Amino acid sequence: MPEGVFLRGGVVIDGTGAPPCPRDVLVEGDRIAAVLPRGAEAPSGTVEYDVTGLHVTPGFIDVHSHDDLEILREPQLLPKLSQGVTTVVVGNCGHGTAPVGVASPYRDGLGRAVMGPFEPEGDWRTFADYLDLVDAAQPSVNVAALAAHNAIRIAVCGFESRPATDVELAAMVGLANDACRDGALGLSTGLGYEPARAANSYEIVALAAAFADGDGLYVTHLRDEADRVLQAVDEALDIGRRSGCRVHVSHLKCAGEPNWGKMSAILQRLSNVGATADVYPYTAASTALRPSLDAVGEAPLIPENYVIATAVGLEEVEGKSLAELAEVWECTGLEAAHRILEATGDVATVVYFTMAENDVATAIASDLVVIGSDGLPVGGHPHPRMYGTFPRVLSRYVAGPPHLSFEAAVERMTARPAAIFGLERRGQVAPGHYADLVLVDRHNVVDRATYESPRVQAAGIEAVLVNGQWAFATDDRPVARAGRTLRRTQRNGSVR
Ligand SMILES: [Zn+2]
Repeated sequence: MPEGVFLRGGVVIDGTGAPPCPRDVLVEGDRIAAVLPRGAEAPSGTVEYDVTGLHVTPGFIDVHSHDDLEILREPQLLPKLSQGVTTVVVGNCGHGTAPVGVASPYRDGLGRAVMGPFEPEGDWRTFADYLDLVDAAQPSVNVAALAAHNAIRIAVCGFESRPATDVELAAMVGLANDACRDGALGLSTGLGYEPARAANSYEIVALAAAFADGDGLYVTHLRDEADRVLQAVDEALDIGRRSGCRVHVSHLKCAGEPNWGKMSAILQRLSNVGATADVYPYTAASTALRPSLDAVGEAPLIPENYVIATAVGLEEVEGKSLAELAEVWECTGLEAAHRILEATGDVATVVYFTMAENDVATAIASDLVVIGSDGLPVGGHPHPRMYGTFPRVLSRYVAGPPHLSFEAAVERMTARPAAIFGLERRGQVAPGHYADLVLVDRHNVVDRATYESPRVQAAGIEAVLVNGQWAFATDDRPVARAGRTLRRTQRNGSVR
């Protein structure tokens, strides 16, 4: 059993939005044992660390990750851990790794583009198998998972883009029930993607209803984020009402210039019914190349705004814009995109500039919104959000509009997401909570990953504890991989 940890001299930001407070923190086992006024004696059997000048915050919760396979490939998950992230939620946007049925969801072009490759040594079939594999990999961070609609659909219907039959829908509901029993936090959809977009509301309501017991959660990448974004929000809220689930909208955005300024109207609709959302702090989006081409609605494709992030087998185009490639290849930007899709078998992703800064800042300012990176752990030139999301909120959106207080920014990454996603005893610096903690140098915390150089760790995250053990540090103290899967228990809807 590791020794206790005593953090002396820091300033605690407890995650609830309460003001910073000088406190010492005692960790015993995997929990916070006490939060004490300065100057208390360190109990015997504990190792004391002087954290004077640093802020002690709860570990950040990345509610929107696509680390489903990255956590198996690279269990230390340094791009996230180095940002202070101690829990990731996977299975977002309807993308997932389980169940495996008539087809394996992580083996198609879209799945490989978003989650990256994986050649399983021992295959898995069920949602529980997947979570067991994550635990066996001994991750550095905690991992909670949503049941992914596209994965469930692919397991039953394959990759065909058509409505499900009644028999197929019954089979899908069975798989959703299994995932719920096995600890999924809720259902996620990505209704802008194939083959999920062939699903009507009836199908989604039937699947989401599997989670309605015990405060279920419906998490959705909307059917449309551009010209019809308000109608898509209405569809999501309708699905929540009919299924009995709370609604959480993924990566809020108003895509394409004709839609800039709609953020306030979206937030008003969410507020009317107590729905929530996540957002990442950038004006560029990133997804698989093919769906990106129609993700901005009627706005014309601007080749300068599309930068190739991943192109498997055609890596020389990574980091280049469609405009640059069109010039070299003497074709249009759209033709260049199709040439890449053909050469890569659709395993290509793109970073594309599509949002207005004012909409992003409006979302971050909202009490309904929490932070999620939507990082894609793939390719040579990924979106910088994979490395910079949380420090960027703590610097850019505290110093500039909407001028969040530091504690309000932390709340959007800790206690608030823990409450929305039902992660019990996570997200606060309080006695009895799990000791997921970050030591932040508040005045120097900043993202350093840029669109030009996206694979750069942030500054100012000095050390991270996960379940009471050091997981990351900028000095050479020994670290351990102490993360675990967080599985929803059905009785009360909360996660152990
Ligand atoms: Zn998405």
